[in-house]
Amino acid sequence: MKVKRIDKKTKILALLFFIPIIIVLLDFLFPLPQMKSFSKEIYAKDGTLLTAYLTEDDKWRMFTKLNEITPELKKAIIEKEDGWFYWHPGINPVSILRALYSNITKGETVSGASTITMQVARLLERKDRTYINKFAEMFRAIQLELHYTKEEILEMYLSLLPYGGNIEGVKAASYIYFNRPPDKLSLAQSIMLAVIPNNPNGLRIDTKVERAKTHRNFWIKNFINNEVFDQYDLKAALDEPVKPNRFRIPTSASHFCYFINQSHGEKRINTSLDLSIQTKAEDLLWNYVQRVYARGVTNGAVLIIDNKTLSVAAYCGSADFYNKEAFGQVNGIRGVRSPGSTLKPFLYAEAFNSGKYTPKMMLLDVPKDFSGYQPENFDYKFNGEVTNAFALGNSLNIPAARLLQDMGLSDFISILERGGFTEISSAKDKLGISLILGGCGVTLEELTRFYTAFANKGKLYPLNYLKDEKKNHKNEIQVFSEAAVYMVSEILSNLKRPDLPKDYINSTKLPKIAWKTGTSYGKRDAWAIGFNPNYTVGVWIGNFDGKGSPYLSGAEISVPLLFDLFNSVDYNHKDKWFTRLDNLLERKVCAETGLLPTKFCTSLTNDFYINKVSHNSYCNLHEEIFVNKDSSLEFCPNCLPSGKFVKAIYPHYQPELEMWFKENKVEYKKHPPHNPSCEMRFTDKGPVIISPSENYEYLVERNTQEEILLKAAPNAAIRTHYWYINSKFYMKSSPGDNIFFKPGEGKFLITCLDDKGRDESVTINVKYY
Ligand SMILES: [Zn+2]
Ligand SMILES: [Zn+2]
Repeated sequence: MKVKRIDKKTKILALLFFIPIIIVLLDFLFPLPQMKSFSKEIYAKDGTLLTAYLTEDDKWRMFTKLNEITPELKKAIIEKEDGWFYWHPGINPVSILRALYSNITKGETVSGASTITMQVARLLERKDRTYINKFAEMFRAIQLELHYTKEEILEMYLSLLPYGGNIEGVKAASYIYFNRPPDKLSLAQSIMLAVIPNNPNGLRIDTKVERAKTHRNFWIKNFINNEVFDQYDLKAALDEPVKPNRFRIPTSASHFCYFINQSHGEKRINTSLDLSIQTKAEDLLWNYVQRVYARGVTNGAVLIIDNKTLSVAAYCGSADFYNKEAFGQVNGIRGVRSPGSTLKPFLYAEAFNSGKYTPKMMLLDVPKDFSGYQPENFDYKFNGEVTNAFALGNSLNIPAARLLQDMGLSDFISILERGGFTEISSAKDKLGISLILGGCGVTLEELTRFYTAFANKGKLYPLNYLKDEKKNHKNEIQVFSEAAVYMVSEILSNLKRPDLPKDYINSTKLPKIAWKTGTSYGKRDAWAIGFNPNYTVGVWIGNFDGKGSPYLSGAEISVPLLFDLFNSVDYNHKDKWFTRLDNLLERKVCAETGLLPTKFCTSLTNDFYINKVSHNSYCNLHEEIFVNKDSSLEFCPNCLPSGKFVKAIYPHYQPELEMWFKENKVEYKKHPPHNPSCEMRFTDKGPVIISPSENYEYLVERNTQEEILLKAAPNAAIRTHYWYINSKFYMKSSPGDNIFFKPGEGKFLITCLDDKGRDESVTINVKYY
C-alpha cells in the first residue's frame, strides 16, 4: 500500500513539471471548442431591451456583460462558487489536492474542486464525469485562462449558466423569472440567481418555487454567517417572497425589431428607437384606429424621424401587431402604396429651385387632356388660374399635372430616383403625368425620409437605425436648394387650407408644422406627412387588404393623428422655425401674373425670389390698344380715325383660359370688336379643320397603334392653333402641322382654336374591330 502511494505522488510531480510544455502542445493540437451561439438582443436608445430571439438551438441564451448585472449577483456567484477565482490559473491546486486526497482516502468523488473556469469548460463541452474528462476539463480551464481575461471568463460563465428548461445565463433568467434586467435585481433575487444553477430543473422558480426559496434562504444564512453582505440587508432578503412566475421576453416595437433583426447581424443591437416616443406613437395610433375601426378603416402606420440625426425615433408598422383580422403583422412602413398627392411638394420645390417659377406665379387650372389622361381636382371644380402657392396649399391636381409637364416628367422622376424611391425607379418607363397625383408606388419610409430634406436645407441623408449614429455626410444628396425648400415649407405651414381639420382652427393645440396630405385613388390610402425643425412624421391610414373606405381621406383621417403626434412628442416647440437664407429675397410682382410689374400692372403683391436664380420676366398680360370713346370698337394702326380714339389697357389671356372663361360664362374684360370698316380686318373665318372630317366614322383595328391626323389649314396671319378633344386642351401646333391623336372608342368632339380666339369643331365616331 505504502509503495503504491509514493508512485502516484511521483507521477503527479512529474506531471506538474512537464505541464507547461504539455499545455502549449495540447493547446495547439486541441483548440478550444467553438463558443455557443447567443440570442440576438435588440435595445432601445435608452438601453431598454425591446426584444430578443431564441438561438438556433432554441435557447434563451443572452450574452451578459459584467456591467449589466448587479454587483451583488457577481459577488454572490464568486463567493459561492470560487472564492479564489481572481487568483488561480484556471485550476485551484489547493482544492484539487484536497479533493484528490478525499477521493483517495474516502473513495468518493468530490466535485467541489471545480473552479468557475472549469465550469465554463464543462458548459462549453458537456462530458460524463470521469477521471479522464476531469483532466480534460482542467486542461481546458488552463487553456481558457491563457486565451481570455478573468472578466471575459466570468462573462461566459454568467451567459452560459443553466436555469432550467431552455433558459441559460443570468440575463435570460432575470427577464423570465423576475421580468427585469439583471442590473435591477434585489439582493434576494441576485442570490436566487446564484443558487438555481446548482440544480436548474429542480429549483426552477416557475415550477419548484418552495424548494428554490429554501435553497435561497440556506445560502442567505450562509452569507449571514460569513458576513458576505450587509447583515441587515441579508435578514430582509430572507423575508422577500418569491412568486412562481414565468414572464415572456419583452416584445416591444415588433415591426421595428423584425426589420432590425433581418437587416443587422450582431448579437446585441443598440438602436436609435426612442422608447418614450415609440410608446406615445403606438398608443395614439392604436386609439385612433379603434375610433375609425367601425367605418371600415382597420390599420395604420407611423414613422417618426429625428431631423437632427436622421435617426428613426418611432416605428409603428401597424396599429396592432397581434390583430390577425386586420393583418397586423404586415409592416405598413415598408409596404408599397399609392402616395396620392404627397409627392406634389417635391415638384414645386423643383420648380422654385429651377428659377422658372416663384410662389405667386400663375398656373392654369382649366381642363386638359394629357395624352388620354384627364385629371380632375378633388372637388371637380376648376379655378381658371391660380398661384403656385395656392395650387400646392390646396393640392389642386390640374395645375400640378401642368407643372409636371412643364418641368419635364423624366427630370422629376430622376429627382425621385436619387431620393431613393425604388418602386418609382423600377417602373419609370411606365409612369406618366398621373405620377404627381399618386399614379405610382412609394413606401411610408421612402416618403417620410424624402420630406426630411425640407427640414435639412434641401439635403437628403440615409436613415439611421442605430444608437448614436449621426448624419451621414458622405452620402448626402442636395436635392433642392435651401431657398426652394424654405418657400415650400412656408406654403405647407400656412393654415388657410382645406385640409386643416375644423376642430383645429383657432385651437391652442395646433403645433407649428408644415404638412401635406394625400388620398389615393379609390380612397384606399390616407396620408399625412409633417415636419418642423425637430421631427418629420409620416402617417399612413388604410387597410392592408387594399379595401377603400369613404372615410379614408388624408385631410380628415390622417391630419388629426399627425397633429396629435406632434403635440405629444414635440410639445412646446412652437416658436422655433426654419431661418431664411440671405439669398431668398422678396419683391413686388403683378398680382395677376406673379411676374415683374410693368407700368400697366395695377395690382401688386409681395413674392419670394432667389437672388440670381429666379427669372426676371415682366408681366405680359396687359396690352395697350386703341378703342373709340365708349370702348365699343377696337382700332388697329391702319384704321385709326384721327382724333377719335383713346388708349386703353386690356388683358391678353392665354387662349386656353379665354376659352374656359367663355364656356363657363366667367366675366372677363373682352376686347371690343374690330372696326368693321377696317380694310385689314380679318376676312377669313378662322381655323379650317382639314383632318379629321366632320361626322367621319373611323374603324380602328384593335391593339394597333393607329392614330388620327389632326390638321388645320395654314394661315399667314395666325401663329398658333390650339387643339381640344372633348373640350379639354390637347396640344398646340403651328397652322398646317401634322399632329396625331390616339383615340379611344366612341364619339369625339375635336376643336381647333386660333390665337385670335376663333374656333371650329368636328365630331368623329371611332369604332374598334
Ligand atoms: Zn401685370
Ligand atoms: Zn383695323
